[in-house]
Amino acid sequence: MALPSINLDRLRTDLLTLGRIGHTDTGGVSRLAFTDPDMEARRWLMRRIEESGGRARLDGAGNVLGRWFEGNHPAVVLGSHIDSVVDGGLFDGTLGVLAGLECARAILDSELRPRRPLELVAFADEEGRFGGMFGVQAYCGMVTPDWLENAADPEGVKLSDAMRSHGLEPLQALNAARRPEDVFAFLELHIEQGPVLEAEKRRIGVVEGISGIFKWVVHLVGKANHAGTSPMHLRSDAFSGLASFAHEIPRILEEEGSPGSRLTIGKVELLPGHPHTVPGEAVFSLVGRDIEPDTLRGLADACTRVLGAIARRKGLHFEYRELSWLEPRRCHPDVIQAFVRAARGLDEDPLLMPSGAGHDTQFMAEFTRAGMIFVPSVGGVSHAPDELTHWADVEIGAQVLLRAVTEFLC
Ligand SMILES: [Zn+2]
Repeated sequence: MALPSINLDRLRTDLLTLGRIGHTDTGGVSRLAFTDPDMEARRWLMRRIEESGGRARLDGAGNVLGRWFEGNHPAVVLGSHIDSVVDGGLFDGTLGVLAGLECARAILDSELRPRRPLELVAFADEEGRFGGMFGVQAYCGMVTPDWLENAADPEGVKLSDAMRSHGLEPLQALNAARRPEDVFAFLELHIEQGPVLEAEKRRIGVVEGISGIFKWVVHLVGKANHAGTSPMHLRSDAFSGLASFAHEIPRILEEEGSPGSRLTIGKVELLPGHPHTVPGEAVFSLVGRDIEPDTLRGLADACTRVLGAIARRKGLHFEYRELSWLEPRRCHPDVIQAFVRAARGLDEDPLLMPSGAGHDTQFMAEFTRAGMIFVPSVGGVSHAPDELTHWADVEIGAQVLLRAVTEFLC
């Protein structure tokens, strides 16, 4: 029996058609969660699912669900997201959703008779207009009534109001929760959004785990003073403490980190912020990432140790506030191996790699056996209109997804 095969023309047409919903002058798309373009895209997707012979519905969290091949067994679930950032690209999230739809159609076109149902999910607000990954957390039963009531976007628009304006009752999101026993496995295809696959000349990345993240705001406090009358050796210069810490980051990573570790100071404010005043306070963000829980903890501990030592040496006061701590998630070995087999079966040499960015799989990995693959992003560009994945790579990614999902379905 011939294995089912992806129809690239059909998939390309879908990607370009969906790319017109919420398109911007720069050639990108803006489909922020629970805006008109986002909801229009959801309705479009539901029509495409029904045209293929599947059943489509919108759950209480605004997730689009598609279903084919009914049966009592738990379903194999494919999915990603179709919301975007402001002026994002055509492939982020949408590739995984539309490749999932194409997998369903390819199997329908073949002689294959799946033993399990296939489900497709386009999760709501993956990109985080209202804090991030709302849809998948609702699907996994992790959303609380309190959170639903209070979540708001940076402009102060409440999630509950945004949902109501599209005819969705916010508390219904609690009914979007699924039972783990109803899901057999979750598989996601996504663009890499980074430069590694391109640099390694590979077309398939099999994700081993998704980085955990800690996010801190650090305060180093010294003494603001006249920049002319304060001798260099008598200053408590908060910026000098920050600079010393930044200089120590490579050493911290070398001693405590893994090759996949990241430490980033992305935002800095010096107070009072005058050219002729010694900075009395440095406030900065510190974000750490790694895919091993112990390594992530080790990095955090090392940062506090080093900051403490620098503060003592330079006569500064140091404190930090933890804004968030998200544990790393391992992808499931069954899914990793299925993806590796599928890639090799198609003569690809897959790269096992971590994901530095967060994805829906991160939450699905707590809920069921879950895993994901990456295809290359040209120039590593994403969250921008010129985000691009070559069609040949789109095709091989969808083909690997199809092979792996077929293995779980049959
Ligand atoms: Zn994405």
